Parts: sequence; C-alpha cells; structure tokens
Amino acid sequence: MSQKPTRHLPVVVIGGGQAGLSMSYFLTQAGIAHVVFEKRRIAHSWRSERWDSFCLVTPNWQCKLPGNPYAGPEPDGFMRRDEIVSYVETYAKSFGAPVREGVGVTKLSRYGARAFMVETAEEKITADAVVMAVGGYHTPNIPRSAERLPANIMQLHSSGYRNAAQLPPGAVLVVGSGQSGCQIAEDLHLAGRNVHLVVGSAPRCPRVYRGRDAVDWLADLGQYDLPVDQHPKREAVRRQANHYLTGRDGGRDIDLRRFASEGMILHGRLADIADGKMHFGDDLVKNLDGADAVYNGICDLIDRHIAEKGIAAPPASRYRPVWQPDNPPTSLDLAAAGVGSVIWATGFRSDWSWVDLPVFDGSGYPTHQRGITTQPGLYVLGLPWLYTWGSGRFVGVGRDAEYLAHHIGARLGAATAEAAA
Ligand SMILES: Cc1cc2nc3c(=O)[nH]c(=O)nc-3n(C[C@H](O)[C@H](O)[C@H](O)COP(=O)(O)OP(=O)(O)OC[C@H]3O[C@@H](n4cnc5c(N)ncnc54)[C@H](O)[C@@H]3O)c2cc1C
Repeated sequence: MSQKPTRHLPVVVIGGGQAGLSMSYFLTQAGIAHVVFEKRRIAHSWRSERWDSFCLVTPNWQCKLPGNPYAGPEPDGFMRRDEIVSYVETYAKSFGAPVREGVGVTKLSRYGARAFMVETAEEKITADAVVMAVGGYHTPNIPRSAERLPANIMQLHSSGYRNAAQLPPGAVLVVGSGQSGCQIAEDLHLAGRNVHLVVGSAPRCPRVYRGRDAVDWLADLGQYDLPVDQHPKREAVRRQANHYLTGRDGGRDIDLRRFASEGMILHGRLADIADGKMHFGDDLVKNLDGADAVYNGICDLIDRHIAEKGIAAPPASRYRPVWQPDNPPTSLDLAAAGVGSVIWATGFRSDWSWVDLPVFDGSGYPTHQRGITTQPGLYVLGLPWLYTWGSGRFVGVGRDAEYLAHHIGARLGAATAEAAA
C-alpha cells in the first residue's frame, strides 16, 4: 500500500462497542464528520465473549447510552446477552452511526505536527483527532503455569466459555473468583457439574439490601459520580477486581459459602501446577472473610445513608457465614479428582501494540486526564475508572463521551480559526 493517505477526516473513532458508539453519537450531534472503525462487528464483546446465560450485573436502568437510555419494561431487571447485543445494535442504527465493520486499525501514528495517520488493511486516513474506544479487555490473561496442565485436560479462557455442554465429562475447575469466575462456577453448579473454584481476593456486594438493589442505594450515595482523583485509592482503583454478584434470574447475591455447602469445592489462590497436581495458597479463609467484610461494609454505608436521610426502610442485617472451610487441602491431584476441564477466569491484558505514539506509562497504560491523552488530539474512552466507576460501563460512558466531544469540537474550531487567520 502506498504511504499516501487516501482521505482526511476531522475525527476517527476506533472501536464499535458502546464507547465508540457513544462518541459517534455526540460527534454526529455536533455535525463533526467522522468514521468508526470496528475490527469485527458492532457489540463484538457482548456478542462473542460472553456465555449463553450471561446477564448484566448492573440493572437495566443504568444502561444510559446517550440519546437512547433503556426504555424497556424492566428497568430493575438485568438484560441477557442477546438483548444487550440488540440494545447496542439498535443504538448504532438510531442515529446512523458511520461504522465500518470488519475494519481493524493496524497502526496509529503521527502525520505531521498536528494530524494522525490511521492505517487499516483497506486504506490510510489522516485525521485531526482520534478516539481510541477499544475497551481494555484484549488478550486473555492466562498464567504460564497453564502449560503444565496434563494434555488430556481441556482448558479455555472465560471469554471462550459458552455452557456446560461444551465441556468434556468430569469435574470442572474454574480459576478465579471475580465476576466472570463466580458466575461461570454458578452456571456449571446449576447445570449439575462437579465444580472446583479457585478463590482469589475479589470483593462481593449484596444484590438487595434494605428493600432495594444495592446499586440503587449506591447511586443515591453518589458512588457512581465520584471522580477517580477523589477516590481514596486514586488511580490504583483502576486495577481493583469487580465485586461479585449476579443479575441472573432477576438478580441475587453470589455466596460461595452456600455453593460450598451444596458441594462446590473451594480452594485458595493458585500457587503452582506440577506433576498433575494443582497447588493452592492457604488463603481461602482470608479470601472468603475479606469478600464478606466488603459486603458488610457496603451494608454499613447504606445504613448510614438511611439514618442520615431518615429514610423508611426494612431493618438492617449483616451477612453471617453459612459455611466455613475445614482445613482445606492445599493441593489437588487433578486425575484423582476427575477434572476434565479448566476454565481460566483470570481476566485480560490490554494490547496497544498497534499504537505508535509515546503515550503510555511504565505499565503500558495510556496516560490521560479524563480521556484527554498527553498527545494533543488523541483521546481514550471506555476504560474502567477512566473518570468514574461508570466510565467502563453503560452508566458512565456517555458522560465521558460528551466531555470529549466538547474538547474535540473546541480543538477543531481553534484549528479552523488558526487556518483562516
Ligand atoms: C464479563 C464482563 C461483564 C460485564 N458486565 C457489565 C455489566 O453488567 N454492566 C456494565 O455496564 N458493564 C459491564 N461490563 C463492562 C463493559 O460494559 C464491557 O466491557 C463493554 O464491552 C465495554 O464497552 P467498550 O465499548 O468500552 O469496549 P468493547 O465492548 O470491548 O468494544 C471495543 C471494540 O473495539 C474493537 N477494536 C479493538 N481493537 C480495534 C482496532 N485496532 N481497530 C478497530 N476496532 C478495534 C473490538 O472489536 C470491540 O468491538 C462487563 C465486562 C465484562 C468483561
């Protein structure tokens, strides 16, 4: 392909998920010409990286895509995977988002002092501004010790899990107790499989407390509007695991102790794999207690709010453990336990290797203030805690997109004025 650009656009948006589409919505409103490049299909992550029984964890009312908030019959319900895909697809159509599906950006670099070169397999476009809305979940984060699993055990990442029937007979061992790991373990447990769950330090949250969804209380408390620079953990909160709970069957707590009392086998954090055995840390008690402490801490927050505002609500309660580990073994002979498959619910890494711009910090995270990067004209959108808790979710991405659209509009306006002077 020639080095010459084929055309110029004021803005290129990279990524056709909810973040890229929200950006496109505000650019469309402002009359700013742009294109959205989507490597696969609109809503790819929801469509292709979630299991069959997947439901939102956040209530439907939090689906606040700008210009098209959730308007269905169940604002307090939790959309299932296919409904989410349809919500996002309908959104793109609602304002004619200029999405080019199946076109991945293979390289992003500077073009002259002020513009960018955006390269795809089909063309090279220059742009005055570029918004990277590619999410943060690119590459399955599977520990290298996976290489030492016996070859007869099927292994897959949580993003490849669909349902219990996809797995060979035998027990299933799920590694990781974040949102995905807990929900997949529950899915398998409900399907009647023997499940082992390797439990880490992820926190948990009540579903319903004192008569309302905890998310509703936390919204009233302003938790979803708190900017990252005012959070007690500051930017470190971006690396924190999500709380586990579920929206399945109308929503409920996820209580690993209850699963254990029903036969699920819980283990401490994965330490090593050797000679057909998995070895675990002796931290199961600590991890379960830690998750419950966060759960009860959220109840404390809600209680204080109710007391301060004098709200009439059902009485306060606290989680009381329904099961305790009894000296759990710190290793498991996989063949003896009949383990036929292992699911790595161990998260994702980001892949920004296609971005040829000096914009990343030492850990490879794009340096930015509320999505405005250190490279003038380059923006990032949709990352967890980009600005608030909701930035990487349906509830907050619209606010961030609107903020960036104003910034982009001002930048393009200033450039036009400069050229005319
Ligand atoms: C298991 C799980 C459960 C979740 N549950 C909830 C929930 O209950 N509620 C909630 O609000 N949020 C939830 N989230 C968080 C969030 O809403 C999703 O991660 C959502 O998909 C993020 O949208 P996005 O547009 O920022 O990124 P993505 O949906 O990941 O979209 C990015 C798009 O960019 C494309 N892309 C990537 N690289 C390129 C490239 N170089 N060129 C062109 N295109 C590219 C990808 O194909 C993709 O379609 C969940 C996330 C996960 C992983």
